[in-house]
Amino acid sequence: MQITQSTQLFSRAQQRIPGGVNSPVRAFKSVNMTPLFIAQGLGSKLFDKDGNECIDYVGSWGPMILGHANPEVVRKLEETLRNGTSFGAPTEGEILLAEMICEAVPSVEMIRLVNSGSEAAMGVLRVARGYTGRDKIIKFEGCYHGSVDPLLVKAGSGAMTLGIPDSPGVPASFVEHTLQAKFNDLDSVIRLAEDNTQDIAAIILEPVAGNMGMIPPEHGFLQGLRDLCDREGILLIFDEVMTGFRVDFGGAQALFGIVPDLSIFGKVIGGGLPVGAYGGRQDIMLQVAPAGPVYQAGTLSGNPLAVTAGLTTLEILKEQNPYPDLGQKTAWLCGELASAAESAGIQIQTKSMGGMFGYFFAENTVSNFQEALNSDTEIFTRFFQNMLREGIYLPPSAFESHFVSTAHTDEDLEKTAAAFRKALKEV
Ligand SMILES: *Cc1c(COP(=O)(O)O)cnc(C)c1O
Repeated sequence: MQITQSTQLFSRAQQRIPGGVNSPVRAFKSVNMTPLFIAQGLGSKLFDKDGNECIDYVGSWGPMILGHANPEVVRKLEETLRNGTSFGAPTEGEILLAEMICEAVPSVEMIRLVNSGSEAAMGVLRVARGYTGRDKIIKFEGCYHGSVDPLLVKAGSGAMTLGIPDSPGVPASFVEHTLQAKFNDLDSVIRLAEDNTQDIAAIILEPVAGNMGMIPPEHGFLQGLRDLCDREGILLIFDEVMTGFRVDFGGAQALFGIVPDLSIFGKVIGGGLPVGAYGGRQDIMLQVAPAGPVYQAGTLSGNPLAVTAGLTTLEILKEQNPYPDLGQKTAWLCGELASAAESAGIQIQTKSMGGMFGYFFAENTVSNFQEALNSDTEIFTRFFQNMLREGIYLPPSAFESHFVSTAHTDEDLEKTAAAFRKALKEV
């Protein structure tokens, strides 16, 4: 694989952009490589500046569930573009997107659009604290909720890959209200709740963890959290930025049948443009300004282009219901991966759900952050490099979920499975 152009661009980028990238995991640091600079995305494929063609399983880290440059999304964007790109005044599209999300996710009765998942996390914490009058929150080790000060504690992939679980620049006093529990360990949460009774505003989690590798909730874990929250007057917040409209049209909460008080979204709901959202129970959301006193605002929030890309994506998903099909694709890939690993004498644990899948090079099932950290990242690095050589673009970190789109064809999947065998044989 020739990467002359990408290598040159990366050197140039590093002169003006810290680390040469605008978001850390893009730098390919943890896989001992330098990043490909992308020239074009089309369907399931990425084309880099050197003309290499890859089958893409990153999908912009989740949003591109319809593949790149979906013709219908592009057409609607072109239409919107001609009418102006930002007004700082309300538009009808914002209502349509809000209605679409509320209809798909019944726990969301009202919703506020923002520009990223991080911003949604910031907003949802503020309204949870404003509503309950309590300061403390519980998060889980290895769950990521964006680059938000009080949540940048044991925050999964990005920080984890670089070995800086707690970032400099986050004052200790900013995280003193953040309590850490262990994913899939209900007792660890109950203990924290009992030690801090009447002080905890919210429990926030990824209902299916996707940022420490992919770790589904064990049976009874989410229900246990729901019951605990009901007993203690704590708000349950599902971070569905990754899982929303990805594992199912109604998100992980639909799959597991658990009703959170608040949810946050991003990624798929923006269809590849910058969108985030937080929403939930009406009585809580009515606390948000200007309906209520909890302030939150954004110049570009509900941006017409972003809303158009998101709405068009959700309309197509609603009409096509691709989730059973996506689920079959990811399950098939996991099966092929597991069998390739077995042939190569390598231990692997795979998981898939709707349009996402993940795996750990580990002997036993991985159910929390510590177990994820104990997986074999050196095998992953060599596996990643071999796969890229075969034209398969995987997330450049052992702690990321993989995404399949409706644009991935049987031929793409067959090619990927063949690459699994070759790549694992040679690690
Ligand atoms: C990506 C992600 C975020 C952050 O969203 P940004 O748009 O990158 O700010 C938050 N939570 C989860 C679960 C995510 O996967």
